[in-house]
Amino acid sequence: MIKMFNPYEIRKDFPILEREINGNKIIYFDNAATSQKPIQVIEAIKEFYSKHNANIHRAVHTLSQEATELSEKAHKEVASFINAKGLEEIIFTKSTTEAINLIAYSLGLRNLSKKDEIIVTLMDHHSNLVPWYIISKLKKVKIRFINVNEDFTLRFDEFENSINKKTKFVCVPHVSNVTGTINDIKSLAKLAHEHDAIIIVDGAQSVPHMQLNVKALDIDFLAFSGHKMLGPMGIGVLYGKNDLLKEMEPFLGGGDAIEEVKLRNNRLMVTWNKLPWKFEAGTQNIEGQVGLMEAIKYLKRIGMENIFQHEKKLTEYTLKRMEEIKKLIVYGPKNIDLRTGIIAFNVKGFDSHEVALFLDQFGIMVRSGFHCAQPLHQRFNLPSTVRASFYLYNVFEEIDRFIEALNELQKLSE
Ligand code: PMP
Repeated sequence: MIKMFNPYEIRKDFPILEREINGNKIIYFDNAATSQKPIQVIEAIKEFYSKHNANIHRAVHTLSQEATELSEKAHKEVASFINAKGLEEIIFTKSTTEAINLIAYSLGLRNLSKKDEIIVTLMDHHSNLVPWYIISKLKKVKIRFINVNEDFTLRFDEFENSINKKTKFVCVPHVSNVTGTINDIKSLAKLAHEHDAIIIVDGAQSVPHMQLNVKALDIDFLAFSGHKMLGPMGIGVLYGKNDLLKEMEPFLGGGDAIEEVKLRNNRLMVTWNKLPWKFEAGTQNIEGQVGLMEAIKYLKRIGMENIFQHEKKLTEYTLKRMEEIKKLIVYGPKNIDLRTGIIAFNVKGFDSHEVALFLDQFGIMVRSGFHCAQPLHQRFNLPSTVRASFYLYNVFEEIDRFIEALNELQKLSE
């Protein structure tokens, strides 16, 4: 059932949206970089430190038990949000970046050999490219790159042509953080599995904006960041299929990752803890886990489908209004069904940073530069781009002010 969606009501939960810059209420269009946080998340973190703070799994006292329970609940909340089997498939990391590095080091470094191959795409964020670059140099494995069509979608035919018996990993972004392109992950997972390859999905730009079901998509790994989905910074997630995680050795060694550490004949003998603790060595970011759990509860109350549809309407409206500005070049799929609320563009005659600085005077926050996706910019010969990205609290009036400001900028070059 679709619940009533009211972004004006939602905005009241976000204290930062009250801020003014140069007498203008801020317009936050940099959601792909990080989202703002509702009061419920801020309060949940405050409550954790005010009432329950202790280290988990380490003590029998009440506070430690409460903190442990909160951490376990947070794992379960994430698991149910993406339809994973249970907490054993959810590993908390620092970020998407750390989650992908965990797979690269735990699985890649230990299992790849010279004749193996990895597939990545030109649409990937650097955090789904650089870890594989490091592993490819260490293990001398080949990386194959999938190109992007002129309409900013992935070349599916290149996947079909590049995948072969040697392919061990297929690494893809679910949604491009530059153009908002939504990739057909289900088909890619099918293709990968037909060749006994493992599919690793960067969900940093999809999980915050759409209902994602890891079982339905049949993906092996999914990485995402709490800070892009109303949660705090410093908390990320790696989902992994139970069977794969069970076979893997930890990326980081330390307390809690182990079941037993013993000395036998002057040698250390180590056995690993159960999932997911095997991959969560050392003191964890419990405040982050609690904050992310609250963020997910918030997103669920609003409804992921409502959020997706709202962003779609904002994007459709923005793209339409952008047609008024002749000096604007917009990048991304023409088909609205193939994109989320991310719009990359340039204004002829201006550098992307000049555009962002100009908009900032009006309190409008957008991102400029490469957005950690240089290969995509290189593919389209773009020196850089401006990126506006929406979330559940953005409203049409903000887009009108954004278009007005861009019109002002255009006039400056006339
Ligand atoms: N992948 C994508 C698609 C992203 O947009 C981002 C964040 N810009 C990342 C990975 C990296 O996320 P984090 O910095 O939280 O590790």
